[in-house]
Amino acid sequence: MSYRSGGSRPRVTVFSLGGTIASTHQPGSPPAGVVPRLGARELVDSVPRLREVAELETVAFRRTASSDLTLPDVVRLAAEIARRFEAGDAGVVVTQGTDTVEESSFALELLVPGPRPVVVTGAMRDPTLAGPDGPANLLAAVRVAASPQAAGLGTLVVFDDEIHAARFVRKTHTSSTATFRSPSAGPLGWVVEGRVRIAFRAPALRGAPTGVSVRVPPVALLKATLGDDFRLAERLPDLGYAGLVVEALGGGHLPSPAVEPLERLARRMPVVLASRTGGGELLRETYGFPGSERDLLSRGLTPAGFLDGPKARVLLSLLLSAGAGPAAVRDSFEQVNASVFAS
Ligand code: ASP
Repeated sequence: MSYRSGGSRPRVTVFSLGGTIASTHQPGSPPAGVVPRLGARELVDSVPRLREVAELETVAFRRTASSDLTLPDVVRLAAEIARRFEAGDAGVVVTQGTDTVEESSFALELLVPGPRPVVVTGAMRDPTLAGPDGPANLLAAVRVAASPQAAGLGTLVVFDDEIHAARFVRKTHTSSTATFRSPSAGPLGWVVEGRVRIAFRAPALRGAPTGVSVRVPPVALLKATLGDDFRLAERLPDLGYAGLVVEALGGGHLPSPAVEPLERLARRMPVVLASRTGGGELLRETYGFPGSERDLLSRGLTPAGFLDGPKARVLLSLLLSAGAGPAAVRDSFEQVNASVFAS
């Protein structure tokens, strides 16, 4: 499961979770699509130059499509990463399916205390295709994880030679190798000719939940659409949900029939208001019409700030796992938001 290669280079552990970077055909079976089969050791062995960069350990942590990863998986992974840091690793790389990188990387950012870097990467072209991007992404990710410049930047996503902050990054394309973008902030830096270039330093995140367990209560994410009245929302407690994130229209707006159901729901469970636009910050004090951001926030919804729906759902889920009540939820969202901007 785990092995070590010697040397005096910084030590980096590569955890593999599956995904396209690890996906090949089943041998001997008729073509039926690629599935995650390779582990961290095979991934590392396929890129000999990695050993010039770092002393590597490998852990095959999961072997799954990232659509089957869960927040409890990430909570367990965060505990393993913390152990690696206690044992002296300079950094850690996580390889996984790209579909949920924007959520798992943000969960790791909330769960793993700094300053040593956690770097998440993957691939869009699997190893059976021409020009697979996994090897180049893995090499760049290890370079960043081994780099002193990456310390204190929180969890990073390194992909297509760009370095993104987990708090901002989104998957934006179904097949492009340049799928990862940070629409609100841009990348923090890049890797060129093997050099790690950090152009901007993101402040350390504050307000992360403490005492998170692997029991993570279900949190729903509902996206607003033209004319939807959110009649589904009030059924959520009966379905076992403990919280809701609403991806509202534009700067934080909903069709007016949705307002009262959500106000009632916010008395029973935390309801967080985010934007479905994918970039920018939720408005707080511009519009005054029924269903506007001012209206909704005055009725007890919690503003997600710069967090998009999936990332707000990660934060709310981990807070509820840690037993946070409504005031602590609100406070954490405020602190996370206040901490990411230079003061
Ligand atoms: N398309 C995915 C990937 O890029 C599959 C997954 O997320 O597991 O890895």
